Amino acid sequence: MNILVTGGAGYIGSHTCVALLEAGHSVIIADNLSNSKEQVVDYVQHISNKDVIFYKVDVTDEVALNEIFSRHLIDGVIHFAGWKAVGESVEKPLMYYMNNLVSTMLLAKVCLLYGVERFVFSSSATVYGDNKVPFKETMDLLPTTNPYGETKVMSERILTDIANANPAFSVSILRYFNPVGAHESGLIGEAPNGIPNNIMPYVTQVAKGKLEKLRVFGNDYPTLDGTGVRDYIHVVDLADGHVAALENLNEGVHTYNLGTGKGTSVLELLKAFEEANDIEIPFDIVDRRPGDIASCFADASKANRELGWTVKRDLIEMCRDAWRFEKNL
Ligand code: NAD
Ligand code: UDP
Repeated sequence: MNILVTGGAGYIGSHTCVALLEAGHSVIIADNLSNSKEQVVDYVQHISNKDVIFYKVDVTDEVALNEIFSRHLIDGVIHFAGWKAVGESVEKPLMYYMNNLVSTMLLAKVCLLYGVERFVFSSSATVYGDNKVPFKETMDLLPTTNPYGETKVMSERILTDIANANPAFSVSILRYFNPVGAHESGLIGEAPNGIPNNIMPYVTQVAKGKLEKLRVFGNDYPTLDGTGVRDYIHVVDLADGHVAALENLNEGVHTYNLGTGKGTSVLELLKAFEEANDIEIPFDIVDRRPGDIASCFADASKANRELGWTVKRDLIEMCRDAWRFEKNL
C-alpha cells in the first residue's frame, strides 16, 4: 500500500515508516519539522534501504494537503502529526486545539474527497483519565487534566462520527501507553528539545551527564513502592502495531490499546536502566507532579487477538536501545 504518514519525521512516526517499508509498503511523509529534523528522513531511508517521498508541509494547510492527495494514489493515512507537551498545552491551549484538531479534520476531509478509506490515528492512554487499571477499550473515558489530552478525546470522537456517517471510511484508533527506546541502529530515537518532560529521555540525559539527577515525582502513591506505575512499550513494537492495524483494518471504527499489559514503577525502571547499561542514575524523591495518576497500564488483549500483534521487546531492551541512541547524539 501507498501510505501517507503525517508526522513521519517524529519519534514514533519515523520508526513506523521503517516498519512500513520493511513490510513492503511505500511511504510518503508529510511533516513541517516543528518538532523534528529532516535528517531523520535520511536515516529512515538508510535503515530500510528504501526511498521515501518527503513533503515539508503543515498538515493544517488544506491547499498543501490537496496537492499531495492529487499527486499520489494514497491507500491509507497514519496521522501522527500533532503536538504532545502536556505543560505547554495548558499554557497555550488554542495553539494545541488548532494544530491537533484542525489537522485531524482536514486530513479526514481530503481522505473523503479522494476516496482514501484507511485512517489510523495516534491516540493516547491519557484518554482513560484516572480509571481503574488495567485500562480496557470498553471503559468510559474520564476527564483528562489538560488540553493535550482533550485533543485526543475530541479527535477520537470526530473520527468516529465521520466514520459512522461514511461507512467506507475505516478508522483505527490506537491508544499508546508509554513509548520508549529506539531503533537498534541507534540512528533514530527520541530527541526532545530542551529539558525532557518524559522519564526515559530524562534518564538517558542524566546517564550522559547532561542533567545532574532524576527527580522522582512522588513515592506516596498506592503502588508497590509508592512511585508511579506505567506501561512502557518499545517504540519498535509500537511501530509494528501500526502496520498490523493498517493491514487488518475493516470497515468501521476500531480502538486498540497498544501497550505491554505490564506496569513498571519509576524505581523499577531506574533499576532496569542501571542493570541494562551498567550506569548508576542518581535521583531525589520530590513532590508529586500535578496531573499525574498513580497507575496506568493496558489490557492489550484486544490488539493481541484482533491484530495478531504482541510485543517482542522487554524493559531491558528498551533501556539499552534508549541509551544507545542518546550516546550517538
Ligand atoms: P513527535 O513530536 O516526535 O512527532 C510528531 C511529528 O509531527 C513531529 O515530527 C512534528 O514536526 C510533526 N508535526 C506537528 N504538527 C504538525 C503539523 N501541523 N504539520 C505537519 N507536521 C506536524 O511526537 P511522537 O512522540 O512521535 O508522537 C506522535 C503522535 O503520537 C502524536 O500525535 C502524539 O500526541 C501521539 N502520542 C505520543 C505519545 C508519546 O509518549 N510519545 C503517547 C501517546 C500519543
Ligand atoms: N517521572 C518522574 N520524573 C521525571 C519524569 C517522569 O518521576 O522526570 C514519572 C512520572 O511521575 C510518571 C512516570 O515517570 O509516574 C512516567 O512519566 P512520563 O512523563 O514519562 O509519562 P506520562 O505517563 O506522564 O505520560
